[in-house]
Amino acid sequence: MASPTRKPRLAVWKFASCDGCQLSLLDCEDELLAVAGALDIAYFMEATRGRIEGRYDLSLVEGSITTAHDAERIREVRRRSRRLVTIGACATAGGIQGLRNFADVAEYAAAVYARPDYIATLATSTPIAEHVPVDFELRGCPISKRQLLEVVSAFLAGRRPVTPAHSVCVE
Ligand code: SF4
Repeated sequence: MASPTRKPRLAVWKFASCDGCQLSLLDCEDELLAVAGALDIAYFMEATRGRIEGRYDLSLVEGSITTAHDAERIREVRRRSRRLVTIGACATAGGIQGLRNFADVAEYAAAVYARPDYIATLATSTPIAEHVPVDFELRGCPISKRQLLEVVSAFLAGRRPVTPAHSVCVE
């Protein structure tokens, strides 16, 4: 997926979520070490790196779209990513925050926040695939660590992941 002279660049992005799927990635430790030598973890705010620059060979995206700013941000992530994989129920289906889709979000905000007028949010929580093309969806809440490793390894090897997940458009 990258030229032989450089390691593939991996990025991990967070949208509306609880961070649980990113924790699954952090929990991979030993297994991740096995593939880390083949990867440049170029952007992963939850771990160490927070500077966005250049393009990424593989982006893992956690979380759903719930604000106009995030709707714009995911388009930028897509532009920067050769492959984009969504991880977890928030990213693939809208998550528990999708309950707002069946209610009045203004009513919810008034019940939860002292100053709901400070809250800028969309009326819905939507999966990433409703905003940009997605190469692979890894489902679960949280995702399976084993399946995540399989997906990362498969994309590194340029093959189709072998998981029960739903593939949107992997070649
Ligand atoms: Fe958290 Fe579940 Fe969403 Fe993953 S899918 S970020 S574990 S709520």
